[in-house]
Amino acid sequence: MTIPIYTQPPAELPATDPLDILVVAPHPDDAELGMGGTIAKMIDEGMRVGVLDLTTGEPTPHGSETIRREETQVATDALNLTWRGNAGLPNRKLVHTLEARELVASYFRMLRPRWIFAPYWNDAHPDHVAATDLIEAARFWAKLSKTEMPGERFHPERVYYYFCIHLRLAITPSWIVDISDHWDAKRASIQAYQSQFVQGRPTEPPTLIDQLHHEAANWGRLINRRYGEPFATKEPLAMKSIRDLI
Ligand SMILES: [Zn+2]
Repeated sequence: MTIPIYTQPPAELPATDPLDILVVAPHPDDAELGMGGTIAKMIDEGMRVGVLDLTTGEPTPHGSETIRREETQVATDALNLTWRGNAGLPNRKLVHTLEARELVASYFRMLRPRWIFAPYWNDAHPDHVAATDLIEAARFWAKLSKTEMPGERFHPERVYYYFCIHLRLAITPSWIVDISDHWDAKRASIQAYQSQFVQGRPTEPPTLIDQLHHEAANWGRLINRRYGEPFATKEPLAMKSIRDLI
């Protein structure tokens, strides 16, 4: 099934049931890199998961707006996403303005996700740092009353953070998700972005995909599973049951 990528203003989005999860990404491919396996797993478990890309991610050396959009469509279908949209904010120049905050908050009010996933807050890429700041502020604004924003006031319960960073950080995640059964879906969603991760990249091992594979295996090793994905949280995690621990 092909899932459309929505680019119209949030006020004109077709009515939809609330999402369980909205992953917000500075560029198309960040959600897949950071948590493609967990997204595929959540969807397998029956959750409604959407991705909002803030910018087109273009220009890049081997991409174009058309190519990137087609690649995003392939990745969206590989993950079987419930919803995907692009907010149309300026790539490379992403800034936390009041207008951008209102736009992102409007998406939150229309999509009504219970939880939001944002990029990890420490990064070298200014778009990523701006995105995190923007998402946190928009989450707060989404609950305001007496505004011009579309939809009803709404407050996503939690913000969590995925890792798609441009710094060689020795990160200490808050938790790691077992994605052993979903590495293949993650790899397919990343390979969809040929212009970003295949064209112009080294073809001799280790390729970029090899490196991502090693990373997933290393996170998996830490939890005694084949593959894993790390996450961070600023607020304490709440668990329904201690049985969820591996
Ligand atoms: Zn990015």
